[in-house]
Amino acid sequence: MRHSTYLEVNLGYLQDNFNLVAKKSKAKILPMVKADAYGNGIIAISKTLVEDCGVSTLGCASLGEAISLYNSCPDLETEMIVFSDTEITNTDFNSAYLNESIFPVLHQVSDVNYVLTNSNFKKLPLILKINTGMNRLGINLNELEQLAPKLKGRGVKHLMTHFACSYYPLKAGDKTHRQMEEFHKALRILKDAGVEVEETSVANSGAIEQSFGLDETFIRPGLMLYGPPSVEPQIWSGHQISKFVTKIIKTFEVKKGTPVGYGINVAGEDGFLVIIPVGYADLSVTTLSGTVLTVNGHKAKIFGRVNMDMCFLMFDRSATGKLKVGDTVELWGHDNRVISDLATQMKTIPYHLMCAVTNRIPRVYKVKS
Ligand SMILES: *Cc1c(COP(=O)(O)O)cnc(C)c1O
Repeated sequence: MRHSTYLEVNLGYLQDNFNLVAKKSKAKILPMVKADAYGNGIIAISKTLVEDCGVSTLGCASLGEAISLYNSCPDLETEMIVFSDTEITNTDFNSAYLNESIFPVLHQVSDVNYVLTNSNFKKLPLILKINTGMNRLGINLNELEQLAPKLKGRGVKHLMTHFACSYYPLKAGDKTHRQMEEFHKALRILKDAGVEVEETSVANSGAIEQSFGLDETFIRPGLMLYGPPSVEPQIWSGHQISKFVTKIIKTFEVKKGTPVGYGINVAGEDGFLVIIPVGYADLSVTTLSGTVLTVNGHKAKIFGRVNMDMCFLMFDRSATGKLKVGDTVELWGHDNRVISDLATQMKTIPYHLMCAVTNRIPRVYKVKS
């Protein structure tokens, strides 16, 4: 655990982002809070979404995430949908689905058959994911044709699919449009078989930003609630809700040719080095080294090897004496361009950076923007 290095999560910005999403669509909002709410802390995020934003359904990835939220906040008035790692056939855990607030997404035929033939799950509402071309999870349309007669009478509570490419600017006839057509075929298959479908959802952040797939019962935003845009060039203007703050623990001048830290990483020029207590055990990304960032108006590069507990920031000589032990360094702040730029430099995506903030970094919550 650390003290002066922390992730400040501004719940006011979360509300602002939520309101921006709500303005785009009349659909109900089903926020994704998987992976500890994209690294921001599932408890505080879920409480804000339910109690302050009026959300009544949250999306997790694993049954464990849903159970843990339920146990931490038994009074939180929300349903939770488990999207991928459902454990539906795991008899050690699947009784969690009998409590009537946690529901699995059935994303393969064997899971549907398991539920249909297991009398414990007689009343379990069926939430089905259709594979419309992402080819990850989901029931194929030919499988759905076979399955449909068995669903008659019981009906489908919620039919969904997931887009593979919605973060690309949309064009008529592209992959996302084709997936949407397949989704409509799936609805038609069920309708023709006399199976009622109560609710639908398709859109993740990329689609919502581009106002696509908003005419369903729900939209399922994740990233856009927490900060950076999915689609480039940027059309989404939410705030990054988190700010990664650390403090300088040591500074010194280096001469050109001086080896610095582990291995043989030699200063290419005379410079000013700053050590910050952020290592790979704090931000679990292997491509930090070489990243350029700005600290109090001075450009720095993450230099040499990143260690478990710290890393070096190399400044040119003009920064000498301008930065001191105890000064604050922000790796990223509430401007959503900064984390996007860092992620690009680190050859990854903002989702990864946000999820890479480890347990050693306390999450500190601020209520107002
Ligand atoms: C994670 C996820 C989302 C949200 O995706 P974002 O790109 O973060 O908006 C929506 N639907 C499903 C099924 C997901 O797994």
